[in-house]
Amino acid sequence: MKNKIIFVLILCGGIAFSQTIRKPLVSAIKVEDLKKDMYEMAGNHFNGREAGTLDELKVSMWLANKAKEAGMSSEGDDGTFFQFFDLFRHQVTANTKFKIGTKAYKLWSEVLVAETTNIKVDAPLLYLGTATKEEIEKADIKGKAVVLLASKEGIADDISLFDRRYPGLVKSKYYDLLVKKGAAAVIFVADKLGEESWFQVEPQMTRGIYGIEGVREKMGSTIPVFWVHNDQLAYLKTTKDLLSTEVVSETYKYPSVNIIGKIEGTDAKLKNEYVLFSGHQDHDGVRQKYGQDSIYNGADDNASTCVAMLAIARAYKKQPGKRSALFVFHGSEERGLLGSRWYASHPTVPEKDIVAVLNGDMIGRNNVNQAALLGSTSPHENSSDLVAIAKKANDEGPKFDLDKLWDRPEHPEYFYFRSDHLPYARKGIPSVFFTSVLHSQYHTPMDEAENIDYVKLHKMTEWMYRTGWILSNDAARPKTLPNVQLER
Ligand SMILES: [Zn+2]
Repeated sequence: MKNKIIFVLILCGGIAFSQTIRKPLVSAIKVEDLKKDMYEMAGNHFNGREAGTLDELKVSMWLANKAKEAGMSSEGDDGTFFQFFDLFRHQVTANTKFKIGTKAYKLWSEVLVAETTNIKVDAPLLYLGTATKEEIEKADIKGKAVVLLASKEGIADDISLFDRRYPGLVKSKYYDLLVKKGAAAVIFVADKLGEESWFQVEPQMTRGIYGIEGVREKMGSTIPVFWVHNDQLAYLKTTKDLLSTEVVSETYKYPSVNIIGKIEGTDAKLKNEYVLFSGHQDHDGVRQKYGQDSIYNGADDNASTCVAMLAIARAYKKQPGKRSALFVFHGSEERGLLGSRWYASHPTVPEKDIVAVLNGDMIGRNNVNQAALLGSTSPHENSSDLVAIAKKANDEGPKFDLDKLWDRPEHPEYFYFRSDHLPYARKGIPSVFFTSVLHSQYHTPMDEAENIDYVKLHKMTEWMYRTGWILSNDAARPKTLPNVQLER
């Protein structure tokens, strides 16, 4: 194979030196490959690739085969492409009971159980309506089941999937205060928004919560939180009946999996260092319908990055860099960045040898000329060297007009904190997040392969590849910055 070698003259502080940098093989990244892989990975046969189900394991087998075809060697456990880990799932069971006076409420249709816990409560009700925090502070609520009428007061609604997030936002308005004041339970009466969000949140609440060793491994011992329908309002305002409830939850383990492959570098020494390409393979499974469709195929989120990583691997296979390229397809991202948290604390290569993490999440939608590089703004930018390299790669390749809003720490979506680069950044590894950001079909069954802009996806793939290519071949490694703020 013949490779073009160009000599780049770099002027640095008046001293000229030369470094041989081979051109990246961008022509190896093909729109047809991205498209073909996308239609396979985001097809209905994988049922939305939900973590904690066989569907995630099925798509992982598919990915491992594709990784092998792309020329990767296995870098998972025991000579395989897989790194399995235990997912802990905590779920409210059908044995849960909720009664006021003699009326037993039907689980999920008449009462939502918003807190996954094990607790038995018998308590008098205290109706506080739309009380403010100051009013709650003054009230005597110790040992009582506080009834509140949900309201949007004080909650910003200019965020994605507001309906689905509403009950959580209402809860966080009051919860800590109610716990502090010794409430025995909280019952929210749904307002109009609460009624609209009921069937949006039910699929989340019935699924429960997920963790791994060290992260939500156990259920919290918290006071229970319930939602009842608005038609109960008149009754709950005046009744002297008591609440009698028992929330019964169970915990079980299920395997989730990261898929890890490598294209080895050519330099005898540098091949022991790794440029880590990161994406997640899971999505949201089968849940509430939009029109006739209930399968959340997650084409943009995040088959887009997985197929980009396969294309990047093919380019590296044809023309390897000096350093090795490591590809980590994380599991269980949608359940709380669990696969990346696991890999960042159990890497299959030495942590100190990971030069940088290039994470992509949702890279195939929105304006074809715009994109965002998250982790490029203080206080969470953790490597200005890496950011400069990614910007240089953008200038040399796709020339995106780079968004400046989504990376802001005060952006209402807090998008920087919502993908797989975060656990690596917290380990002190230079990390950035490439994205074409959210859109109206985010986390709906309409996030389908036919709605991907393949020109955009190709440009984003080229950008990630060009960034990786510089990192693979540069003599120096990107340094990290001091005093980085990585908690929200
Ligand atoms: Zn995602």
